[in-house]
Amino acid sequence: VSAPWQGRALTVLGATGSIGTSTLDVAARLGIPVHGLSARSRIDELAAQCREHRPAVAVVPDAAAAARLRALVPGQRVEHGPEALDAIAADPAVGAVITAIVGAAGLAPTLAAVRAGKRVGIANKEPLVMAGALIMAEAARCGAAILPVDSEHSAIFQCLEGHRGHEVAELLLTASGGPFRTVMDLSAVTREQALKHPTWTMGPKITIDSASLMNKALEVVEARWLFGIGPERIRVLVHPQSVVHSMVAYRDGSVMAQLGRPDMRTPIQYALTFPEHTAGPVAAPDFATLAALTFEEPDRRRFPSIDFAYAALRTGGAAPAALNAANEVAVQAFLDRRIPFTGIFRVLERVLALDHGPADDLGQVVAADQRARILAAEGL
Ligand code: NDP
Ligand code: MG
Repeated sequence: VSAPWQGRALTVLGATGSIGTSTLDVAARLGIPVHGLSARSRIDELAAQCREHRPAVAVVPDAAAAARLRALVPGQRVEHGPEALDAIAADPAVGAVITAIVGAAGLAPTLAAVRAGKRVGIANKEPLVMAGALIMAEAARCGAAILPVDSEHSAIFQCLEGHRGHEVAELLLTASGGPFRTVMDLSAVTREQALKHPTWTMGPKITIDSASLMNKALEVVEARWLFGIGPERIRVLVHPQSVVHSMVAYRDGSVMAQLGRPDMRTPIQYALTFPEHTAGPVAAPDFATLAALTFEEPDRRRFPSIDFAYAALRTGGAAPAALNAANEVAVQAFLDRRIPFTGIFRVLERVLALDHGPADDLGQVVAADQRARILAAEGL
């Protein structure tokens, strides 16, 4: 890889997940050495990854998990705890980090990678939603290169290459619409139905977010910070085929789109090889067999999530962090069968209506996140 971080190794935060395993597949094909891998609960899977990818360090949450991993992989260096997670993100041997932890838990190691000036491929969008302004400012200060892994943002990033930001009319963020796009009554949909995504195979949290369109809401906030563009110039379009990953409309009416198969290895690889499009495992779409590419407005009445994102951005401060935290609590409650699907929207609406204060520093963001979790849980 003739990337700027050539010769240095890769750390994958959240290696055992959907993005993590795809990242290791891409890294192995590119011959990129692995420095750090982390997992939370899937220790057997992490052990198998250690045998295959030979990381310098593996990180797990606690001493018991560390002992288990050491027993499974004799000779493997194993560390545990949050400081160890930050350390594999910031180690001098590391050139690039892919953030593939789910949720706010990824905030601290994402910041550690940014502050160490790494190339940071961001899949874990929740930290950007919570603290986008802070993360982007730290990246500029510390010389970190933030590259989007989220397919829509990778698409927009590519559509902006070689163009001038001030000539952009709007970013067109595409959404599959999820499994309930054509389900008119959402009051009785089940956990099993929500976990069946029509086009993408992903971890459970983002799969529920895709069903509620909260994933797209989080992505509006993510785009706002990644591309430094006002929310009034970010528009969501439903595109059920998930072939056009997103678009950029320019002021002269010209629209750039990026297309590809729904396989996260494409944007993961580009985050690692940018500015090069090197050979990879994913073929281009076969246009002769694509029946149609269709686009429609999202139904904001059935799916109020997207409006929540714009409202949180309008309020500013810690409102997006609170929205994200409330969503994490609500999604878990839905997965645990404690609330119905539409209960997610009720929790979000209630928490968003409260005052969450400013987000001028990390302390305020973390405090707002924790407070919003309590407020969300109180009303379940
Ligand atoms: P998964 O649930 O499949 O994987 C999550 C990973 O994070 C696992 O390795 C898990 O460990 C680890 N993890 C979970 N919670 C914690 C925690 N509290 N502390 C430390 N590690 C933790 O998620 P995905 O791969 O689907 O998604 C990861 C991120 O990427 C999310 O933010 C998602 O929004 C984003 N994303 C995902 C896409 C996809 O296609 N999957 C597409 C675009 C963005 P373990 O499994 O061992 O418990
Ligand atoms: Mg996405």
